[in-house]
Amino acid sequence: MKIITAEPTGLCFGVRRAVAALEDALKKYGRVYSLGAPIHNPQETKRLERLGLAVVDAPSLVPKNAAAFVRAHGVSPEVLSALAERSINITDGTCPFVKNAQEKAKALSQDGYIVIILGDVSHPEVRGIMGCVSGEVHVLSGAAEIPESFRGKRCGILSQTTQRVEDFSALAAGFISIAPEVKVYNTICRATLERQRSVCRLAGEADGIVILGGKDSANTKKLAEIGGSSGVPTLWIEHAGELERSWVLGKRTIGIAAGGSTPDWLMKELIQKLKMM
Ligand code: SF4
Repeated sequence: MKIITAEPTGLCFGVRRAVAALEDALKKYGRVYSLGAPIHNPQETKRLERLGLAVVDAPSLVPKNAAAFVRAHGVSPEVLSALAERSINITDGTCPFVKNAQEKAKALSQDGYIVIILGDVSHPEVRGIMGCVSGEVHVLSGAAEIPESFRGKRCGILSQTTQRVEDFSALAAGFISIAPEVKVYNTICRATLERQRSVCRLAGEADGIVILGGKDSANTKKLAEIGGSSGVPTLWIEHAGELERSWVLGKRTIGIAAGGSTPDWLMKELIQKLKMM
């Protein structure tokens, strides 16, 4: 059996940078409170918890004067102010690409555009971007959701960083057909795009694809969707322990790819397990 690893794959620049900043903060403060899991990967979160990380759901749960960590998804300005007001030492791991989307959303809103975000309204990154908008803001999951009420309005469009380019293009085209003025910022990050393309390439070479990454990771989910829609049997697992011999049997070439929040050590474990099979 041949194993092909997607290129590029695994930890993206933003998450790698954020985890490094968190590890530095843990060394400095001992105890650091993260607003939500610092990375969409339960195995990596557990490793960081062993180093002193505490995951909390709200800024109010971070004790006064303690150390807090903002993950790569970013948070709204309101959350940052709530932390600063209580003299909390903030390590800001917001990915620069997410910061860019936040700034674009703010600027569109200040310039009088209705802000439309392609994405998942429940995703923390999207909530953070929405929090930067002072006027009207909507989150759509695709072109099919564009309502008639946008007809004739000035619309500013951007995307959650992990969305598919095809979906974003379709959304922008949909708005162009109904609105007199449309401003589009492509805020999909290259790391996401490159990982998506690498899975498309795998599909041309492998007769089975394994996607490795957390089940709550939006970018990993997209990779699994791309693999699945290629017609090549695609398996999405969080760690090597979930890989069954029966799935691998009969396949001559296995392609493997990891989401942008999957640490290198999990990928190494998977490769080792496949080699043993
Ligand atoms: S996927 Fe892109 S935007 Fe998100 S953290 Fe990684 S580099 Fe940043």
